[in-house]
Amino acid sequence: MNETLQLFSLRGKRALITGSGRGIGLALARGLAGAGASVVINDRNEGKASDIAARLRDEGIDADFAVFDVTDREQVIPAIQRVETHIGAIDILVNNAGIQRRAPLEGFDERDWNDLLRVNLDGVFHVSQAVARHMLARGRGKIINIGSVQSELARPGIAPYAATKGAVRMLTKGMCAEWARHGIQANAIAPGYFETELNRALVDDPAFSEWLCQRTPAGRWGRVEELCGAAVFLASPAADFVNGQTLFVDGGLTSVV
Ligand code: NAD
Repeated sequence: MNETLQLFSLRGKRALITGSGRGIGLALARGLAGAGASVVINDRNEGKASDIAARLRDEGIDADFAVFDVTDREQVIPAIQRVETHIGAIDILVNNAGIQRRAPLEGFDERDWNDLLRVNLDGVFHVSQAVARHMLARGRGKIINIGSVQSELARPGIAPYAATKGAVRMLTKGMCAEWARHGIQANAIAPGYFETELNRALVDDPAFSEWLCQRTPAGRWGRVEELCGAAVFLASPAADFVNGQTLFVDGGLTSVV
């Protein structure tokens, strides 16, 4: 492998991807593995995490799994310790687990608000803190937080989601502010609209699809595999001096009105 390609290699690295039982997280696990990483699949559902890890092993990927709910600190801290002790050091953390709830702001259910905050923001805090303590001791590590175009732009019906994703963008900068000196690079990927279960209601709505394809310069929905290049880059030595950034992978959506 030539020197430039070597910069993007994840050989010998281990990546933990939260919420990787399906959707974007699963695609990122495959993408990071394709660049040479071992992967640890996480979901809050044990069957899902172990099945996915087994499926990836059948595909020739070095895959393990760790079951925990990112919102539950009492699960997160021992689970991260177990991975570090029994599977191996976490070199790359992808904070991907996330949920969506849609309703007009004036009638937004308080429980939905709390759920969004707990998964999309508290979850990033709990898992990053638990993993970063190990990374800080080693003096190296890569953290990739999954934001959204809603880290930058609001839309009717999803104001609370946008608030969590805006916060993820700022938390990424905060991680950079505190941990860059200790060899950790923390960056975010902000996906545009990708066809996953999280977006099922939108995918199934032809009026929304038509609006989206007009609104997005690329003229289409994203394919989850199209997020892998950004993740491999941010996880690799090629990004050793890239820190606190949010990389929008959105077909140009946030560049135009
Ligand atoms: P998805 O619903 O298909 O998958 C999310 C996964 O996270 C599921 O496997 C779910 O079980 C897991 N999860 C949810 N809560 C969890 C918890 N508390 N603990 C552990 N795991 C949990 O969603 P997706 O579309 O793949 O989205 C993944 C991430 O990408 C989310 O952070 C989402 O906000 C973000 N995102 C998605 C899109 C998109 O177009 N799909 C766009 C921008 C950002």
